Amino acid sequence: MIDFIDLKEQYNLLEGEIVKSILNVLQHGKYIMGPEVEELEQKLCKYVGVKNTIACSNGTEALLMPLMAWGIGPGDAVFTTPFTFIATAEVIALIGATPVFVDINPDSFNIDPQKLQVKIEEVLKDGKLVPKVIVPVDLFGLPCEYDEIGKIADKYNLKILEDAAQGFGGEYKGKKAGSFGDAAGTSFFPAKPLGCYGDGGAIFTDDDELASIIRSLRVHGQGDNKYQNIRIGLNGRLDTLQAAILLPKLKAFKKELNLRNSAASRYTLGLKGYLKTPEIPEGFLSSWAQYSVLARDWDIREKIRQGLKLKGIPTAVYYPIPLHLQKAFEYLNYSHGDFPVCEDISSRIFSIPMHPYLKAEVMDEIIETIIDSCQK
Ligand SMILES: *Cc1c(COP(=O)(O)O)cnc(C)c1O
Repeated sequence: MIDFIDLKEQYNLLEGEIVKSILNVLQHGKYIMGPEVEELEQKLCKYVGVKNTIACSNGTEALLMPLMAWGIGPGDAVFTTPFTFIATAEVIALIGATPVFVDINPDSFNIDPQKLQVKIEEVLKDGKLVPKVIVPVDLFGLPCEYDEIGKIADKYNLKILEDAAQGFGGEYKGKKAGSFGDAAGTSFFPAKPLGCYGDGGAIFTDDDELASIIRSLRVHGQGDNKYQNIRIGLNGRLDTLQAAILLPKLKAFKKELNLRNSAASRYTLGLKGYLKTPEIPEGFLSSWAQYSVLARDWDIREKIRQGLKLKGIPTAVYYPIPLHLQKAFEYLNYSHGDFPVCEDISSRIFSIPMHPYLKAEVMDEIIETIIDSCQK
C-alpha cells in the first residue's frame, strides 16, 4: 500500500531528535508557551525572512487573527479565490465581512490578478461593500504573482493577507512564501509541507504594531498582564509540544524541499504529454504541498484514478467543489458558471502521492499506471 503523504519515513529519519525534543518538554513541564515556542518563532523569522512570527493553534486561526487585528468586519469586501480550502473564505465570513471570489489563472491555479482588478472595480461601482483586503492563496505550494497583486493593493489601498498554508517553503523572486503580504498565515497540519503532530500554525509580518495586537489576540486579548483584557481575543496558542516537534523538522525542511522538487521533476518528465503537468514559471519555486495534474475531462480523470486505485495508489481531488458553490456560501448568491476557469479545473484535476521520501520505483509505477489508463 502506497501512502498519499508518508509521514512515517520522515519520523524514522528524525526519531532521535524528535523524541529528545519531546522528552525535554515533558521534563521542564512548560506545556503552554514554553521556551520551544519562542525558539521556533525566532527560527521561523529567519527562515521566512520576516521581523515577526506569532506561532498559533492552526492555519485557520493564523488567517483569522490578522483580519481581527485590522478590524475587518460587516460591510467590508475581502477578495479571494474560490479554488482553495474552505478555511480561507470561512474566516472572512466568520468576522462578518463578505468574501468576494475572483477566478483563477488556468496554469498556476492561483488568483488571476487581472480578474482581481476587474472585481475590485465592480465592488466599488456597486457601492455596497468597501474593499479592504486581498487574500491570495499559494495553492499547492506555488506562490501567487505578488508583484501584480501588490500593485493592485497599492492602487486601491488594500491589505494583503497571504494564505501560505500550503506555500511554506515556496519562493518568488528570491523571497520566501510567508513574506509577501502585510501579514501571512501558514499551517502546520501534519500533511502540509512543514507539519507537526497535531494542529499548529503561524503568522508572519514585518509590522511590529500588528504583531503586538496579534500576540494579545492570541491570549484572550490580554494587556500588560494575564488578568487585564483590552480587546476580545481567543485562545490561539501553539502547544509547546508541537513547537518542540517542529524544531527538528524545520532543520530537515530545506533538504526535504529539494527532495520534493526532485520528485516533482521526475513526475513531470514522465507524465508530460499525457496530462497537463504543473508549470512553475521563471522566478518561482514550489514547495509541492500537492502534485496536481489535469486530465482532458472528468471521465478520463475518473478512469485514471480508478486505474491507480486498483494498484493500491491513492489519489485525491483538491478541490471537487469550488467555494462559491458550497452550501455554506449559498447566501452569497453565486451560481454555476460564475467562475468558469475554476469550475472547469475542479472537474479535471487530481493529485498524486507527494512527499520528500517517494521512491523512484514507486513514482515510475505511478507514471506507468497513469499512461496505461490514458491509453485504454
Ligand atoms: C490547510 C489550509 C488552511 C487551514 O489550516 P488548518 O491548520 O487546517 O486550520 C487554510 N488555507 C489553506 C489553503 C489550507 O490548505
